[in-house]
Amino acid sequence: MGRHYDLAVVGAGIVGLGHAVAALRRGLTVAVIDRASGVQGASVRNFGHLGITGQEGEARAYAELARELWLTLAPEAGFWLRESGSIVVARADDELAVLEEFRERRGGHDVRLLTPAEVRESVPVADGVAVGGALLPSDLQIDPREAAAAIARWLDAHGVDFFWQTAVSGVEPGLVRTPRGRVAADAVVVAVGHDVDHLFPGIAEAHGIERCGLDMMLVEAALELPLATPVLTGWSLVRYSGFARTPSAAALRERLAAEQPALAALDVNLMFTQRPDGTLIVGDTHARGADASPFQHEEAFALLLEQTRELFGVADLRVRERWQGVYAAAPDEFLVAAPAPGVRVVSVTTGIGMTTGLGLADRVVDELFSDAPGALIPAGAARVR
Ligand SMILES: Cc1cc2nc3c(=O)[nH]c(=O)nc-3n(C[C@H](O)[C@H](O)[C@H](O)COP(=O)(O)OP(=O)(O)OC[C@H]3O[C@@H](n4cnc5c(N)ncnc54)[C@H](O)[C@@H]3O)c2cc1C
Repeated sequence: MGRHYDLAVVGAGIVGLGHAVAALRRGLTVAVIDRASGVQGASVRNFGHLGITGQEGEARAYAELARELWLTLAPEAGFWLRESGSIVVARADDELAVLEEFRERRGGHDVRLLTPAEVRESVPVADGVAVGGALLPSDLQIDPREAAAAIARWLDAHGVDFFWQTAVSGVEPGLVRTPRGRVAADAVVVAVGHDVDHLFPGIAEAHGIERCGLDMMLVEAALELPLATPVLTGWSLVRYSGFARTPSAAALRERLAAEQPALAALDVNLMFTQRPDGTLIVGDTHARGADASPFQHEEAFALLLEQTRELFGVADLRVRERWQGVYAAAPDEFLVAAPAPGVRVVSVTTGIGMTTGLGLADRVVDELFSDAPGALIPAGAARVR
């Protein structure tokens, strides 16, 4: 750890790796420090859905930049990515109404409404289930099991130093403290996802950061057709900002809660992606708190499986794995705080870090190494007291 770096990054999830990529591209020297032995956090536990189209505002800007970065990185770092778009399956007229309003908000761009027959051409939903849907052609898909790890290997091969199994215990201007020694750098980015409170409790409290725990499954299913795209449902339409801000979204939320109280209580976002080996990632539920519960309730998995059977009309599902994912959740979608000169604390504080993280990181590195410091830091951003 004797070397001096331009940038030290704490956290080797997609947000931390995104900072390392951005710094490397600008010719800077970089160290990445992570307490785990490899990429193991939210960045491998997700759907691998890069939902560009469903974002609005700041998230949309980061998502569009991230899209370009993902497209460049996939061939360079050698991981699977497909320009699949996504399909939203509408199972009721109020879901179609949200999609129609969303398409209008976008001036008809980047959203194509689908007939039930068109939905069935790409998604093997059971007969009569879809009343229509939408194709979101800009969305991408990666395999979360391999993408971030491949980026870390690529960075390593290009001269970024990784310090694995090294828990960071403190950060000061120009310095990262660990039980193995110190890492010195001109600038430090702390990208520890939901663990902001461990290093910067004042920032976590000021931004209302909590942990959101999610139940996920990997399932083998004999679908009629492979899933050509990630598949979203009406539950996704009341979650992602672009859809959730349409006039009809409130009524849809109410109807879903009245008809499916058990799913609403679990704050479900029913969606599916298929990995290159054919297995389906099925999820998810959301439970927020200071800590994610150590226990996962079987009822949640049973409900997700029942929904999967109904949607695809398949009786036979074999669960291969279950896991819990955790991400940072807060009222704002992003945290960029400057607790000290040359130190940035960065987290995506809703479940869209794979979609936006690379773009956000690129902007933070721009700001840190430009002559206009503070440009990205929102007014009132927390400072460590
Ligand atoms: C189940 C689930 C499904 C999701 N689906 C999607 C999706 O389809 N699309 C999408 O866009 N987003 C999705 N998300 C959100 C997305 O996965 C996250 O926003 C993103 O991965 C966060 O990346 P990160 O780098 O901030 O955090 P992480 O990937 O969690 O990485 C943080 C890293 O910091 C390290 N760390 C923590 N504390 C220390 C310390 N003191 N010292 C050293 N290292 C430390 C950890 O070991 C970890 O490696 C999903 C999230 C979950 C949980």
